[in-house]
Amino acid sequence: MNRVINEIERMFPNAKCELNHSNEFELVIAVMLSAQTTDAAVNKLTKDLFKKYLEPTDYLMVSDNELESDLRRIGLHRRKAASIKAASKMIFNDYNGVVPNTRQELMKLPGVGRKTANVVLGVAFDIPAIPVDTHVERVSKRLGLAEQDDNVLVVEKKLMGRIPKSKWNKLHHQMIFFGRYHCLARKPHCEVCKLLEYCNYISEK
Ligand code: SF4
Repeated sequence: MNRVINEIERMFPNAKCELNHSNEFELVIAVMLSAQTTDAAVNKLTKDLFKKYLEPTDYLMVSDNELESDLRRIGLHRRKAASIKAASKMIFNDYNGVVPNTRQELMKLPGVGRKTANVVLGVAFDIPAIPVDTHVERVSKRLGLAEQDDNVLVVEKKLMGRIPKSKWNKLHHQMIFFGRYHCLARKPHCEVCKLLEYCNYISEK
C-alpha cells in the first residue's frame, strides 16, 4: 500500500489540476464541461469562453441558443449549456454570486455531482477530498486499492480510509496523472511499471 502510494508520488511530483481556470466559478464551469471529454478539449473551449463569460450573470443574460452555440465544439453541449445556466442562476440567487464551499451545497447546483463537488473542494478551496474519475477508479482497482465491482462511492470511501487525509488533494492529481500518462486504459506501460507485482491488470485481461 505505502509502496504503491510512494511510487505514484515519485513518478508525478508536480501533478495538478489540468483544467485552466482563474477562480472557483471558472473551475465549476470547466469541471461541468469536462464530462465525457478531455481536459485539453475543455481548455481549448474555455480560452475564449472565459473572456466572454466572467460571472454567473453573464451566462444568465444570453439566450439558450447563444450559449449552446458557444459550447458547440464540445460534446453534450445542449445538456451542459442547460446545467451551466441553472447552476449560474442558483449561485447568483442563493449564494450571492459566490461558489459555496461545502460538498452538500455544491451538490445542490444543477449538473454538479459528487465528483465535481470534490474537485471544487480540493482545487478551489484546498479542502481535503478525493474525486473519483475514470483514471482514479481504474488505477485504484488495478492496484488493489479497491475491488473490481466497487462503485465510485465505495472506491472513494476506501481511498479515504487508506490514504492519509493530508495526501488526498495532491495524491488524487498524481493518480490521475498515473492513469492518464502511464497506466492508460487500453495500453498501460506495464513493461516499465515498478508496480507490476501489486497489479491485478494481467488477471483482468
Ligand atoms: S502494471 Fe500496468 S496495469 Fe498495472 S499499474 Fe502498472 S502500468 Fe498499470
